[in-house]
Amino acid sequence: MVRADASVSIKVLLNATASHYGFRPTYRRVWMAKQKAVVLIYGDWDESYNELPRWVLGVQVTMPGSIAVLRTSPVRVGGQLDKTQAYFHRLLWTFPPCIEAFRHCKLLVSIDGTHIYGKYGGTLLVAIAQDGNSNILPVAFALVENVTPQPGLLVIFDRHNGIKAALEASDGGWLPPITYRAFCIRHVAANFALTFKGKDARRLLVNAAYAKTEVEFDYWFDILRSEDPAMCDWANQIEYSLWTHYCDEGRRFGHMTTNISECVNSILKGVRNLPVCSLVKATYGWLAELFVRKGREAEAQLGTGQQFSQHLVKCIEANLKTARCFTVTLYDRDNSEYTVAETTPTGSFSLGTYRVSLGSQTCDCGYFQALHFPCPHTLACCAYWCTKL
Ligand SMILES: [Zn+2]
Repeated sequence: MVRADASVSIKVLLNATASHYGFRPTYRRVWMAKQKAVVLIYGDWDESYNELPRWVLGVQVTMPGSIAVLRTSPVRVGGQLDKTQAYFHRLLWTFPPCIEAFRHCKLLVSIDGTHIYGKYGGTLLVAIAQDGNSNILPVAFALVENVTPQPGLLVIFDRHNGIKAALEASDGGWLPPITYRAFCIRHVAANFALTFKGKDARRLLVNAAYAKTEVEFDYWFDILRSEDPAMCDWANQIEYSLWTHYCDEGRRFGHMTTNISECVNSILKGVRNLPVCSLVKATYGWLAELFVRKGREAEAQLGTGQQFSQHLVKCIEANLKTARCFTVTLYDRDNSEYTVAETTPTGSFSLGTYRVSLGSQTCDCGYFQALHFPCPHTLACCAYWCTKL
């Protein structure tokens, strides 16, 4: 059973033993037996760490372009440095197909961590990108020692201070304008709820964060202020560019949480019971399978003559279907700017006016710049442009 699924629970094993052999061992005995089975199938826990450098070297030799960085920390015995031994500190690895595929993804990386079980624990971090079809792509993996969650304002990226420290190092090359950071809204909201109880206030904060325009943001923020000004003070301590959608300059592509990597975590759940070297090998096996499957899907789509990703086509079709009553007026011919007035179907009431710039790919509604594909107002302008050709 352990061979089939290393993440099989002790309870399941206990029940299976009871029904198969007719006696109920203690939880502890089953736990020990499982550890032994894992060692038999996947190798010894300690030996697995020793095997790691060899495997890392093997991958680099057989797959040029693979990146694997293994860091160890020195062992001190009675104040003396023992040069024959080293502690595992952290390992970062990625494979050439991941690096190549990332060139074609949205410029966005989401980082999430999952605790690994077994003898020594630790955290497996996965950096995830997403392609135009909303397929998730693991870009890189890292295995680090346990990071202790620290209460505080900046609960980011799934609460890993290790990630935060790495991103904020002045020589790391991760600071703006080279790289930008953003917080996972769910984690910001969870932190907010520690200070301010009540679901309603939390919902208001999330709505403000998701607002795509300043007007919409102000609307939710004002309600929040009327509930308790301290809530706004709390939120104002975090830079707006880190948690609000309308200030992100389109960098989030609509991703407000680290949800996309959490689906990867569910896949990786099965590997986190394995000794370290088997775990690293498992990520390789999983990626190989993923690339073959996704490659076939993409070939099939190209084979039927599709130019854009199915996901994008679906979104645009949905926007086209919101058949609304738009009156398009050319505003600035040189810069392809339009005003789009929306009215009720009878044309008697105005529902708002939006300025659309095809040149700079923006719309007042905020969707065009945030999601990087045309909103209904933009599509109305494109239709207008076609009729005037
Ligand atoms: Zn719009």
